[in-house]
Amino acid sequence: MLKREDWYELARKLDWEFSYAHTPDVYPETLSGRPWLTHDAWQPWDEPYRTTFSEYVHTQHRKEEAVSAVHEALGGIDHLRKLDPSWASGLKLHSATLPLAEFAAVVGNLRAARFGRDSAWRNAALLGALDELRHTQIPLRLMHDLIPHDPGFDWTHRLMHTNNWVAIAGRHLVDELLLTSDPIEFAVATHFVFETGFTNLQFVGLSSLARRTGDTLFEKMVQSIQTDEARHAQIGHSVMRILMEHDPRYAQQLVDKWFWRSWLFFSVVTGFTMDYLTPLSGRTGSFKEFVEEWVLTQFQRSLDEMGLSKPWYWDTFLNSLDHYHHMVYLGAYTHRATVWFDLVLPEEEERAWLAAKYPQSWPSFEPAWHHLGLRWEKVGSEVEWHTHGLTPIGFCNLCQLVLCGGTPAQNTARTLSYEGNNYIFCSEPCAWIFQNEPGRYAQHRDVVKRILAGEAPGNLLELVRTYFGLNRKEWGRDVRRKQQHTGLASQTPEGGS
Ligand code: MN
Ligand code: MN
Repeated sequence: MLKREDWYELARKLDWEFSYAHTPDVYPETLSGRPWLTHDAWQPWDEPYRTTFSEYVHTQHRKEEAVSAVHEALGGIDHLRKLDPSWASGLKLHSATLPLAEFAAVVGNLRAARFGRDSAWRNAALLGALDELRHTQIPLRLMHDLIPHDPGFDWTHRLMHTNNWVAIAGRHLVDELLLTSDPIEFAVATHFVFETGFTNLQFVGLSSLARRTGDTLFEKMVQSIQTDEARHAQIGHSVMRILMEHDPRYAQQLVDKWFWRSWLFFSVVTGFTMDYLTPLSGRTGSFKEFVEEWVLTQFQRSLDEMGLSKPWYWDTFLNSLDHYHHMVYLGAYTHRATVWFDLVLPEEEERAWLAAKYPQSWPSFEPAWHHLGLRWEKVGSEVEWHTHGLTPIGFCNLCQLVLCGGTPAQNTARTLSYEGNNYIFCSEPCAWIFQNEPGRYAQHRDVVKRILAGEAPGNLLELVRTYFGLNRKEWGRDVRRKQQHTGLASQTPEGGS
């Protein structure tokens, strides 16, 4: 058998001149991305971490064995029973946002495996596609066993097939990021920004919290996924290096766009889990501290290394570190029946922790939680709707998340008109992203527009049941008060049906 060094260099760089087709027909700009350059420009494309298919298969096999062993030891419902109920709810939130997004990443990688402009890039992307298939299957497999104990884990697979508002926001992000972007935008958005910039929040930050809360299953699952991400995320740096030589303005625009979109996504999924759903005894740092450590420091280093600038809205971003996820969480808590996971009202000790971690912003949130706590005391846990919003709320026409930009005193909503229609955004960066590519976004209808068009019911309870796909056994409650009452629907303003 040939030794690796005797064939690998030739195999990974195997591009040739086409004799009976034009290169732009083989790699059309709409599918390969812009700027469209001749192959000479892409020829220096280089991946720092090289692997052959044979090495890949052997390594992945060992990883699968390790995950299987953990699954066998810890995969049952006994493990779930040992977890703090609020952490288990965070697990439900995470699990549902993970596998089908990973599946969309298979498609993004496969597009690069066909339309990427250098053979080494295409090979790396092919292994990336296999990685993402694994990241689809692992959480589906592990969470499936938990369904008999808690039907909410069925949402691991179901979420992205529903019209739940989180799924609408999730698809708006994931469809663009992973399904429809060309390989150049995909490499910048997914590999360089999303994977290199943000996923360490989960892989390092959240997995350390998982260990402290005793969720070894989740810890091992994300660590196993991380080893794949660390390899294929490097595609981003390799593409970025060449993009910066030929079109640095476009590179910066893509970074600015995808940093904001990724930030909003992680604020909700990871921000909720770290600052609210992790039991106090398991917390090591706040979401903001993890972002400072794993996003700010590391991502700034990547930007400097490439000669990129910080996104133009950097001050807005820094301000949102103290506010944004707290704003959305408060909105989600008061509309908890619209989601498939439970939320918690932070008790006095937790609020003291949050006040210490967020000295600038927490005083503006404290009165709302104080008021909600009093309300619970007054009405008792029998009447959950007395601490619940009763009408649907507004959504951003770009990110599709609740209009929660800014602070409790001053929200940052922006409006604009395009071709005779009015649009509203949670923030300046969301409006900017829309304005750069209105054709891409203008036709998309948020939940409120669907209600106005008669596609979705305007009554909140009907919306939750018939459009968001939640029955009363599944919809979110206050996790610490849910044991104390039953039959939420019979206490609704409609009297139940
Ligand atoms: Mn993945
Ligand atoms: Mn990935």
